[in-house]
Amino acid sequence: MSGERLAVLGAGVMGTAITTLAAGHGLPVTVVDVNPGRLAAVRDDVRGQLRLAQLMGKLPRDVETGEITAVADVTAVADADVVIESITERPELKAKVLAEVSAVVRPGALLVSNTSAIPIDELAASVTHPGRLVGIHFMNPPYLIRAVELIRGPRSTDTAMAAAAALLARLGREPVVVGDGPGFVINRILQRSINEAARIVEEGIATPEAVDAAFTGCLGHATGPLATADLIGLDNVVDSLRVLRERTGDAGYEPCALLLRKVADGDFGRKTGQGFYHH
Ligand code: NAD
Repeated sequence: MSGERLAVLGAGVMGTAITTLAAGHGLPVTVVDVNPGRLAAVRDDVRGQLRLAQLMGKLPRDVETGEITAVADVTAVADADVVIESITERPELKAKVLAEVSAVVRPGALLVSNTSAIPIDELAASVTHPGRLVGIHFMNPPYLIRAVELIRGPRSTDTAMAAAAALLARLGREPVVVGDGPGFVINRILQRSINEAARIVEEGIATPEAVDAAFTGCLGHATGPLATADLIGLDNVVDSLRVLRERTGDAGYEPCALLLRKVADGDFGRKTGQGFYHH
């Protein structure tokens, strides 16, 4: 598990930005996506993110950027030391892709899921040698925010945890080690806050601007829950809420009507230009 050859599954918001983080530290990355549009765009997107992060002093300028290979075929991950799964937050899709990966990678490779909310042990059921799977919940964008949640599933081995810690050190990230469970720490709390904030807007109690201003101005948070939701992607928020609702039985996670309506209208937030805010 030397962590030198990296594969990233998913070239969406997070897969692209994780690729930026790794390539910016000199690691070659194979990116896999089923969407040809994302495969065509990923290199340019990474280049733009690299420029920004280097200008901000968040990624080293004196490191040769790792080579990026973008492919549709998941078997291209066969020689990777580390595979980071960052596809759409749908349990059945993740289970399928993790099974495909574990059929082709070396038994010693480290497998990582960047899931927002699905318990690592649930995903481990789809992996041969389930002890090699851990969760790394990167923050958005991962090349600007240093801290990550590092999730130890009940079956994750010491070797896998050590390999994950070594990878994060190589990438200049700082792990906060937490246990397994729906949403781990951050999303168990954050997704519920976003849902409640959206419900407040739906009920006409406050505008999105007022909700967020209360959090930033009164509580000193860097951003409010609805600006955060637009950054995450409202489609991803709804998927994560559904994962939490199904696994906790807690009705507080039932996605509210306003969130569902925005997703049905294609207003996903920053990535489509419209969410709670216009971008
Ligand atoms: P996204 O919708 O932007 O990207 C998901 C990508 O996965 C898409 O490009 C899609 O084509 C691809 N995909 C779907 N099925 C695939 C398959 N079988 N093989 C290869 N690619 C496939 O979503 P995102 O926001 O990048 O989220 C990705 C993961 O990261 C999710 O698990 C999400 O919960 C998690 N996450 C998101 C954030 C955030 O702020 N957006 C933060 C931390 C973690």
